Amino acid sequence: LSEYKLCVFGSGGVGKSCLTMQFVQRIFMPRYDPTIEDVYKKTVEIDGQQYSLEILDTAGTEEFSAMRDLYVKNSHGFILVYSITSQATFNDLTDFYERIIRIKDTEINGTPPMVLVANKSDLEDERAVGRQAGQELARRWKCTFLETSAKNLLNVNEIFFDLVRQINRA
Ligand code: GDP
Ligand code: MG
Repeated sequence: LSEYKLCVFGSGGVGKSCLTMQFVQRIFMPRYDPTIEDVYKKTVEIDGQQYSLEILDTAGTEEFSAMRDLYVKNSHGFILVYSITSQATFNDLTDFYERIIRIKDTEINGTPPMVLVANKSDLEDERAVGRQAGQELARRWKCTFLETSAKNLLNVNEIFFDLVRQINRA
């Protein structure tokens, strides 16, 4: 049984908790306390192998705490989430990315396993960030790109499956 630690980052309101809860418990909670930061565990089978995943659903994005830095240092994979309805949440990801890169000491280890997630893809009418912008950023960061909907359960498992496969290759 491989145990992998994963972190979910992104601005408040992009759907980090909804994506995490959909994956862990298969429920969509339209209202989730935005201040709760917690670790969720789930055992999954991927490609015929059992994995124990420990997922940190972060909250309160203003400052990275020393404790969170330590969790990042010990983590195997990272999920960076923005909402397609907000350009600001897309721009905000650069700070998260740079912080992760600094903590993980990537000059030695290369880019850590990572998925860039464009959530709320069900809200096409309110789209503010084009699909291509997301794809380009993912290319620059050498990570996977997925458009998801926590609400409609679109590409939610895929985030975690892709990340586990990346970790296995790393
Ligand atoms: P967090 O602050 O990043 O953890 O965001 P939450 O998971 O708490 O979600 C913030 C708000 O966005 C809530 O009102 C959710 O119902 C809503 N939301 C989350 N994911 C989706 C989605 O895929 N589609 C839509 N339409 N709303 C979503
Ligand atoms: Mg949350």
